[in-house]
Amino acid sequence: MKRFKILWALFVVVFFSGLVFASGAGDQALQKLMDGNKRYVAGNLMKKDLGETKRKELTKGQKPFAIVITCSDSRVPPELLFDQGLGDIFVIRVAGNVVDPIALGSIEYGAEHLNAPLLFILGHSKCGAVTATLEAKGKPEGNIGEIVKKIMPAAEKAKKKGGTEDEILETAIKENVKNVYNDVMRKSKIIPELLHEGKLKIVAGEYDITTGKVGMIELPKATPAKKAH
Ligand SMILES: [Zn+2]
Repeated sequence: MKRFKILWALFVVVFFSGLVFASGAGDQALQKLMDGNKRYVAGNLMKKDLGETKRKELTKGQKPFAIVITCSDSRVPPELLFDQGLGDIFVIRVAGNVVDPIALGSIEYGAEHLNAPLLFILGHSKCGAVTATLEAKGKPEGNIGEIVKKIMPAAEKAKKKGGTEDEILETAIKENVKNVYNDVMRKSKIIPELLHEGKLKIVAGEYDITTGKVGMIELPKATPAKKAH
C-alpha cells in the first residue's frame, strides 16, 4: 500500500510537470506579462538592465516574447505596466488601439519574423479616443475621423446596451477591443494561420489607469475572412 502511494505521488508529479512543460510558449509569455503587472501594481518592480552591455547584446538581434497593441495614451506605457525591459515586448501604439494595414503589418512582422508567441490587445479605462467617439457628432473628418470611424461600431453597440455614462464608456472600451481582435483575424492572412498552427496565442485585456491592474477580456470567436471571388 505504501509503495502504491509513493508510485501514485510520483505519477502525479511527473504528470503535472509534463502539463506545465507542455503549456506553450504563448501561455508562458502571458504569465510573464501578468507577473510583471502584479509587480507593477505592488510597486515591486524588477531590476532592469538598461545599460550599455544589454544594448550591445541586443544589437545582435531582438527576440521579443510578446506583441502588445495598445493606446497611445501617455498613462498606458506597456513596458512599464507589464514591468518589462529592453528587447522584451514588441509594441504597436495607436490612439484607441485600433488597427489599420500599417498596424497589422507591424503585428505580422512581430509574429511571423520575430516569432513572438503572444499577441496582447490592450484597451484601457477612461480612453479618450473611445470617449471622443461616443461624443462625436456629424460625419467623422480628417485623420482623427479615421480613428473615430474604427471605434464607432463599439460606441454604437454600447449606446444601444445603455446604462450610466461610465457604464456606456466601459462597454464601448471592451467592445472596441473585441472589434480590434475581429479586425486582426479578418484582415490579416498570416495571423489566423499562426493561431491555428498553435504558433501564436491571442489574448485581450483592459488596463485600469486607477488601480494599475490589467484585467482579461474574453474574446469572441472570430469570423473567418470572406474569400474574395
Ligand atoms: Zn486611449
